[in-house]
Amino acid sequence: MAPSSGQTRIAVYPGSFDLLTNGHLDIIRRSQKLFDRLVVAVGNNATKAAPLFTVGERLDVLREATREWSNVEAVELRGLTVEFAAANRAQFIIRGLRAISDYEFELQLALMNHKLNTEIETIFLAADPANIFVSSRVIRDVWRHGGDIAEFVPAATIRALERKSEQKVS
Ligand code: ADP
Repeated sequence: MAPSSGQTRIAVYPGSFDLLTNGHLDIIRRSQKLFDRLVVAVGNNATKAAPLFTVGERLDVLREATREWSNVEAVELRGLTVEFAAANRAQFIIRGLRAISDYEFELQLALMNHKLNTEIETIFLAADPANIFVSSRVIRDVWRHGGDIAEFVPAATIRALERKSEQKVS
């Protein structure tokens, strides 16, 4: 089923987004120009260590950071990404590619998703060179040790981190 010119083009951008970085936001900004609707799907990755933000907090940050784009929405992702995409009538899954190290895992994921549902295509966007070394995990570590992360994340993430710090002291 090739999307005809009249068909609404819907894409899902799945990830943990724990915390939202300028790298993620750049992929969202570029994707929302390519598709009629972009659903940013926030999941809990079982292979990742204890999350910093709850899914609800991550959705709040995403909604604040993407407010200017009316075709972007942020939703919790449960279950399989391809099933979530199909339920949202999405024909595309967006992933960002940074270095070679992303490639093997991303290819495995894309091939598996294609096996599970051949109607849904994964589209890779190359990271902006400015964000190539930006990852949520590294930024979380720098923040936990008191480092300045302002240049790597949107203002909405900074505000959410400030709320986290206040929760810790109170
Ligand atoms: P992370 O790998 O930072 O924990 P996620 O699991 O939330 O991020 O990743 C969601 C998607 O965003 C993945 O496709 C990942 O490759 C992509 N991504 C993450 N960081 C960047 C970045 N700095 N530039 C481009 N894409 C990125």
